[in-house]
Amino acid sequence: MGDHQPHFDYEIIKEYCGAKSLRIAVLSVHGCPLARGGRKDAGGMNVYVLETSQRFTERGAQVDVFVRRHDAVDPLIVPIGQQARVVHMSVGSPSDDKQDLFVHIPDFVHAVEEFRRSEAVNYDLVVSHYWLSGLAGLDLSAEWDVPHVTSFHTLAEVKFRARPGEREAPERVASERRIAREVDRIVAWSQNEQRSLTTLYGAQTSRVEVIPPGVDTSRFIPMDSLESRQKLGLGLGRNILYVGRLDKLKGLDILLRAVAGLEDMPDVRLMVVGGTVGDQETTDLRTLARELGIETRVDFLGSVDQALLPRYYAASDVCVLPSHYESFGLAALEAAACEKPVVASNVGGLPSIVLSGETGYLISWQCPGPFATCIELLLENHYLRRSLGRAARKHATTLTWDASVDALMLLY
Ligand code: UDP
Repeated sequence: MGDHQPHFDYEIIKEYCGAKSLRIAVLSVHGCPLARGGRKDAGGMNVYVLETSQRFTERGAQVDVFVRRHDAVDPLIVPIGQQARVVHMSVGSPSDDKQDLFVHIPDFVHAVEEFRRSEAVNYDLVVSHYWLSGLAGLDLSAEWDVPHVTSFHTLAEVKFRARPGEREAPERVASERRIAREVDRIVAWSQNEQRSLTTLYGAQTSRVEVIPPGVDTSRFIPMDSLESRQKLGLGLGRNILYVGRLDKLKGLDILLRAVAGLEDMPDVRLMVVGGTVGDQETTDLRTLARELGIETRVDFLGSVDQALLPRYYAASDVCVLPSHYESFGLAALEAAACEKPVVASNVGGLPSIVLSGETGYLISWQCPGPFATCIELLLENHYLRRSLGRAARKHATTLTWDASVDALMLLY
C-alpha cells in the first residue's frame, strides 16, 4: 500500500506529544470513502478521506470516519484499514441532495456524540472535510475540547468567480467564513487555495498549512499501451482521456468543442470516464456532442472502479482537464504517474501538478482553441508525448500520499 518509507520517526513524535496513539474523528458528512469516484458528489474528496485515513492508521493512529448514511442498507460500521472504520450516521433521508444537508448538521453532531458515548471513547482531534463537516467540527471540537483541523476542498467564493451562474446553498459562504475564522488549522491543497482563504475569507496566513494530496505511485504505474487497449476492447486509434465527475465546473463542454476542432484527425477518440450512464450530466454532454457532429467519436464510459483506472490512463495518448476550477486535480496527478502528458486549465492546484512545457501544458483561457492546439501537438508527436510523460511520472513521485500523510501527522 505504501509508496515510500515515512520521512519522520513516529515513535519520537508520539513520545514528544505524550500520546500513545492519536484517536482521530474524521467528519465527512456527504463524502463517503466507500463511494466510487466519478459519480455525482463522489470524487477527489472521497478518495482523499480513504487514502489518508488508511495511512494514519499505518502510523499508529486510530481513525473513525463519520459519514451520513447514503444508502438505507449501509451497515453502521465498515472497517477500512487496520484501525480505521467508516461509521454511518442515519441523518436525513439517504436520497437528500448535498445542497439540502445544512439543516441536518445539528442531528449529525448529535449522532456522532451518541456514538462516542456508546463506545466510551475520547477523540484527540477532529478533522473535517468540506464546509458542512466544518460546521459539525466546530461544535464537536468545542464539546470535546480538542483541536479541529479542516480542509474546504472547494470554496463557494472561488466557484462563483470561476463560473458565473454556479448555485450554492444560501448558508454556504457565511458558514465558510465562520469556519475559516474559528478553526485551529486549515489544510489547503495549493498556494492558490491558501491565497483565496486569506484574501476572500480573512483566514490568518499562519493558520493555513499548504499540504498537497498525493498519488499512490505503486498503483498508478506506466503500463503497456497496446495491451491496455486490447484489454479494454479499444481500437488502435489515438485516444484523448478525461477522468472525473461530470460537473459543469469541470469544463467538459470546452473539451468537446476542442475535439470538434480536430478536423484533420478523424481517427481520434475521446474517452469520458465518470458520471453514470443515463444521468442528466451525461445526457446533456451527449446532446452537445451530437450538436457538434462528434457523437461517434466520443465514448461516455460511466464511472470506473479506481483499481481499473491505470488501464484507461495507459490506453490514452493524452489526458485533459479543462476545469474552470480545480482545488487540486487528482486525476491529473494519476495520469502523470502513469507517464501521460496532461493538458489542463491553469487554475487552482493544477499548476503544482502540470509543469507547463515539461510534463504537459497549462492553458490560461477556458476556451477550446488553445486546448485543441496543445492536444493536436501532442497527438502528432510521439517523442514529445514520451518525453513529457516520463517527466510527468518523475514529478508525480514527489507528490505521494505517504509524503502528504507524513506532513499531516506532523501537523496533528
Ligand atoms: N475516479 C474514479 N473513477 C471514475 C472517475 C474518477 O475512481 O470513474 C477518481 C479518480 O481516480 C480521482 C477522483 O475520482 O482520484 C477525482 O478526483 P479529482 O481531484 O480529479 O476531481 P474532484 O472530484 O475532486 O473534482
